Order: sequence, then structure tokens, then C-alpha cells
Amino acid sequence: MEKKDVIIIGAGVSGLACAHFLRAQRPELSVLVVEKSSHSGGVIRSHHEGGYLCEVGPHGFLDNKEESREILADLHLMDGVQRAPLGDFHRYLCRQGRLMALPQKPQELITSKLLSPWDKLRLLGDLWKKPLAGHPSIGEWAGHRFGKGVLPLVDAAITGTFSGDLNRLSMDAVMPGVRKLEAEHGSLLRGLKKKAKAKREKIVLLPAMINFPQGLERLVQSMAVGHDIKTECEVHGLEKRGEGWQLSTADGPLLARHVICALPINGALPLFAPFGPPVDKVPESYICNVRLGFVDNGAIPKGFGFLTPECENRFVLGCMFTSRMFPGRAPQGKVLLEALVGGRRHPERLELADDEIVRRVVADLKELLDLPESPEFVRVLRPKSGIPQMEKDHLDLLTWRANLEQGNHGISLCGFGWDGIGINDMTRSARLAVAAIDQGRGGEEDPGVKPVYF
Ligand SMILES: Cc1cc2nc3c(=O)[nH]c(=O)nc-3n(C[C@H](O)[C@H](O)[C@H](O)COP(=O)(O)OP(=O)(O)OC[C@H]3O[C@@H](n4cnc5c(N)ncnc54)[C@H](O)[C@@H]3O)c2cc1C
Repeated sequence: MEKKDVIIIGAGVSGLACAHFLRAQRPELSVLVVEKSSHSGGVIRSHHEGGYLCEVGPHGFLDNKEESREILADLHLMDGVQRAPLGDFHRYLCRQGRLMALPQKPQELITSKLLSPWDKLRLLGDLWKKPLAGHPSIGEWAGHRFGKGVLPLVDAAITGTFSGDLNRLSMDAVMPGVRKLEAEHGSLLRGLKKKAKAKREKIVLLPAMINFPQGLERLVQSMAVGHDIKTECEVHGLEKRGEGWQLSTADGPLLARHVICALPINGALPLFAPFGPPVDKVPESYICNVRLGFVDNGAIPKGFGFLTPECENRFVLGCMFTSRMFPGRAPQGKVLLEALVGGRRHPERLELADDEIVRRVVADLKELLDLPESPEFVRVLRPKSGIPQMEKDHLDLLTWRANLEQGNHGISLCGFGWDGIGINDMTRSARLAVAAIDQGRGGEEDPGVKPVYF
């Protein structure tokens, strides 16, 4: 049986990014990617129907991360991307039953009606508040540092990224860089100021959301070209064999010197069950995407869309103004909106029939937007994958992974839900996994401060 230098398990964007960085940095190594399904790309899939173009999974990613930019440049995809700069497109928050624009710059917060004068003043409480001990949830942390008035904004940000629950997600797991700054400087604002000064970052430009005229699938299709990918080959388990690893698959065993497991966290944990992970599953949040095409009456603003904090008691978690962001996603004279339903707090809504979901979404949207009478295009897409939630057990899982990698030469784990959940987190995590080959992980990485854009 031929032994590969590296086998990558999973051909989603994480596995493909690992293959990409390996080809760029270690072209001498023989690499095989094994994939359970009949195609690569994982969660990323674009859906064309009736002149509308929708995404089944992610709807784009920000252009501000080095690893993703490198992949785009290497694959000559930069010229072909569609950009929706955050500075040009408003994002809205639903507050007290109406849409309010989020400030585009910190100074706009002073005049914004999103926070009361007291809540604005309370933000400065961050300068005096001692860091919370232990491992608080994001909600506990934000309320302590900046006051309760800020929680609807934080809630919306968490809904827009994790479709999660701010009172369950772990602050230390989701934003370790922020916690580090807080610990070092006693205040996040002071820490950010010092960091910016040290790096001489005078102008902070807002990034752009990017996608492709053909849909996001273009990214993973391009990333897959030229790699040795064995599809319809599910890995059922792995064990140490001499200096390497043996993977068991339905097609028989595969051997490798090094294995990168680039699976979503809940796909990886069963494979590593013999290595005793602290939990066998992490919670996930599921959403459904309701795509609605309307005749464009000009009433949908030029913006990304809106999000609704839980306290607004609405049926939709939010809605993207997709064809405003990325023209060409709807036929001429039409507009495409994509509403999100469900999430960590409302899985029961996904039990409803499609017709009922559409009825309630349209009713909700009509209260907030001046929409034409009825949509001319309707499609409910239910992504099969959930979004892993980095909740209270997550830090234990990261410690377990670090020990596993350290104690078992030739194993690295990256992928959906380990070091983050966005595409940019996947490419960064992939690069670290590739760098660990033959050298092990290079000690504690500075987690950096991940700005939240929503
Ligand atoms: C509904 C939804 C919306 C999202 N929106 C955004 C967004 O707007 N922006 C953003 O940046 N991110 C978004 N994300 C997150 C983004 O999609 C993920 O970060 C990314 O796609 C994860 O890639 P992955 O390769 O780690 O996992 P996956 O895409 O799940 O790929 C894993 C692959 O491994 C294969 N596999 C599984 N088990 C095995 C096995 N045992 N053996 C072999 N192969 C196996 C699977 O078939 C799959 O192809 C969204 C995710 C979801 C679910």
C-alpha cells in the first residue's frame, strides 16, 4: 500500500486551504485529500434558479485576512471578485420595531439613537471595570464592561455570525484576543488604543464583503483544481502505525506519515473517540434561509441588511439585501432578499412547514420594509450543516486538541468550529495546521483581536 506524506481528511474550504498551503510551501510532499461526498467544497454551495443566485451556506467573507487574500491572489481570483465595502453599505438593527442604521464610524455612535445618553456614557465604564474572573459568557462579559444597554447590539452581532446565544457562547473561546488585551491593559478601549499606536495604525479602513458573480462555489471549485482528491471516501477511524497513521475507509486502509483532520468539530470528535475527548459533541445552531424575490420598488435601501436582537421578539433573525450587496443576483428590475430563521434559540421554528415559515417571514418583513404586495420568487433552503457553538466546554476541547497533537506526532486538527466559524478562520487555522507538519505547533499564537462586523 502506497504511503502518502500527508492525508487531509475533508475537502471543504478547510481541507482545500490545507492542500493549497502545502502545495505552495512543501511542494516535495505527496498529498491526498479524502472526501466523504461526491464533490469538494463542503458547506459552500451556490444555487441558481429562475434568474436568482443564492448561497446555500456562506454568503461571502471579508477581504481583510491575509491567508484568504493569499489564496485568492495565488489562484488569480482577485480580479473576478465582487466587493461590497462595509463603508458604502449600511447595516441596520431592528430596535423597537423599526430599522436603525448602525454607525459606520466610532464617532457616529455619539449622535446615534441606538444607545441612550446614559448607555453611551456607560461605555467608558470599560476604563475602570476590573476584568471578570473565570470564563464568562459573551453576554456577561459585555454587560460587565460596557453596560446592559449595549447588549442588544452584541446580541445582533452574535446572531449575525454564530446565529448563537450570547448568554451561552464563551467569551474566552470566541474572542481570546479581546480577553488578552483586557487582561494586559485592564480595559479593552485602552488596550485597543495602545495596540493601534504600537502598530501605527492611524487609518482603520472598513473591509469589504466579497463573493463572485458565479457565486461562492467559484472559490472552492478553483481551490480544488490540481489536487489529488479521492471523493466518496469516508474515513471511519484512524490509528497509529509505526512512524505514521492508518486511516480506515470503506475502500480499505490508507497510510500517511502525517494526517490533517480538516473536518467540522462534530465530524472530527467521533474519529478521535479512542483518544478521549472531553465531550463527544458540541452544540450546533441550525438556520433556514428564506429567499424572496420581489419587483424592485426602490424601497429596499442600499445596505447589507438588518439583524434583530432577541429582545425584539421577531420571527426572523435578520435579512440580507442580497442583490443590493451583489448586483446580478436577481433578474433585471427585481430584488433578492434572504431572511434567516431558527438559530440556537429557536430550533423549533425549523420544524414548521415551508409555507408557514414563508408566511411568517413575509409578515415580519412587511412590518419593517416597504415591500411590494407578494414575492414573485420564493425558495426555502435548509442547510444540512449546523454552525458549531463555542460554548462552555470549548476551552477544554482546545486543551485536549493541543495535548493530542503534542502527544501524537503527525496529527493536526483544524476545521469548522475549532478556532472559529468563518471562512477566514478556516484559512488561518489551515495555515497553522500545515505549519505544524514536522515541527509541531509553534507554541502560543497571539490570537489577535478579531473585529466583529455584522
Ligand atoms: C448556514 C451557514 C452559513 C454560513 N455563513 C457564513 C458566512 O456568511 N461567512 C463565512 O465566512 N462563513 C460562513 N459560514 C461558515 C463557513 O461555511 C465555514 O467556515 C466553512 O465552510 C467550513 O469549512 P470546513 O471545510 O471546515 O467544513 P465543511 O464545509 O463542512 O467541509 C467538511 C468536508 O468534510 C467532509 N467529511 C465529513 N466527514 C468526513 C469523513 N469522515 N471522511 C471524509 N470526509 C468527510 C464533508 O463531506 C465536507 O465536504 C456559514 C456556515 C453555515 C452552515
